[in-house]
Amino acid sequence: MDTPASYQPVARRKVYEQVAEQLLGQIGARRLKPGDVLPPERELTESFGVGRSSIREALRMLESQGVISAVNGGSFVVADAASPLNSSLRLMFTLDDRTGIHDLFELRRILEVEAAALAAQRHGAGHLEEMDAAIEEMAVSLADHGGERFIDADLHFHLAVAEATGNRLVLHSMQAVRDVVRRALMTVFVIPQSPESAVVEHRSIRAAIASGDPVRARQEMTNHLVRVEADVEKGVSNG
Ligand SMILES: [Zn+2]
Repeated sequence: MDTPASYQPVARRKVYEQVAEQLLGQIGARRLKPGDVLPPERELTESFGVGRSSIREALRMLESQGVISAVNGGSFVVADAASPLNSSLRLMFTLDDRTGIHDLFELRRILEVEAAALAAQRHGAGHLEEMDAAIEEMAVSLADHGGERFIDADLHFHLAVAEATGNRLVLHSMQAVRDVVRRALMTVFVIPQSPESAVVEHRSIRAAIASGDPVRARQEMTNHLVRVEADVEKGVSNG
């Protein structure tokens, strides 16, 4: 058991950290919502009764965490809920050179295979319509040779599946993985047949979810992600 001698002295909280925490509290309580502009620096300085440098430091900290983002004219707006996770995952993927495409797809499988099973059990009619719209958009952009549009539609489908789980954290995590995946998928489009396969596989996933069969939904999502990963690895090694 710990003795009091092993306790560490509690660090005095810095002023800017307290300011950042209060601002975060306002955002958490939804008194400041995504897209809302933060009060100007001068007003915050007066409200908090602290120096301008503490306000600036607090804003810089929240910005680096992706909680707020700078807009024209030096003001800040509250970011979307998924953004903090989004920017940290992107940063992690960039900075940690021991992570690679394989880790990314393993993470997707962990997240999305189970999400497909939950979607099979919990989806509503609106979710299926959303998946249909995404598949339709994929098919149309394929005929139109629209690379980026196709990839956006592909991701739209995966987000619709995540949304159908009814678990907001699954959706936010999927959105965060989205950016990193997007870059990986850009290489796939040059591989013949890969986008066509994605349309067929998405239809199978959608059918499994619609039939309310979690076992089949898991299997179809696994098949899709394993096939995409193999194609991405090929694309990457081709340069
Ligand atoms: Zn897909």
